[in-house]
Amino acid sequence: MTQQAEQQQAGREAESPDVFLDDVTDAEAREQAARERGTVRPITVVGNPVLHRECRDVTEFDDGLRKLVDDMFASQRAAEGVGLAANQIGVDLKVFVYDCPDDDGARHVGAVCNPVLEELPADRRQLDDGNEGCLSVPGAYMSLARPDFAVVSGRDLDGNPVRVQGTGYFARCLQHETDHLHGRLYIDRLSKRERKDVMQQMAENTPRYETVPND
Ligand code: ZN
Repeated sequence: MTQQAEQQQAGREAESPDVFLDDVTDAEAREQAARERGTVRPITVVGNPVLHRECRDVTEFDDGLRKLVDDMFASQRAAEGVGLAANQIGVDLKVFVYDCPDDDGARHVGAVCNPVLEELPADRRQLDDGNEGCLSVPGAYMSLARPDFAVVSGRDLDGNPVRVQGTGYFARCLQHETDHLHGRLYIDRLSKRERKDVMQQMAENTPRYETVPND
């Protein structure tokens, strides 16, 4: 068996676990520890190529990945975000972090590598048309209909399969961050007119955090 075939085999065996990740227990302490280890990095904004193409899969679950995730938690906190994808600090890797409340006000904190959104059963496909914003589109918000329940499967920082489920704002966050790693911003889901409105809002506001200038 070639190395590539082995990897493909490993991929097939990586079936989603039946149990969902507990990302609520010790959420506050875990977020604080991660961001205190990390370094705040500037945020890339719409127009930066790293945001507009699919990121590479995480294949090395090593100390470098943990350092990246710590920096992402630090950057997310500094920019007052509820979710952050690696390409938002200029890193071309499929990993996102989150610190986000759900429908019941429970705080979820975690990181997912190589996320894939699962298809929802028809009875869970209820749309919510709440407001959405993005640290990479600073100062702008727009209503966007998305399912109010989401399940993401992927890998944890040790490379083990994980599944994360979310309701309400957290469901929106899981979908938004998974989109990022596939090169898609929420403004790509808006009508032409709405997108123009958002870009106008962005032009009129100065970000309250450091951003990476576009060439
Ligand atoms: Zn975003």
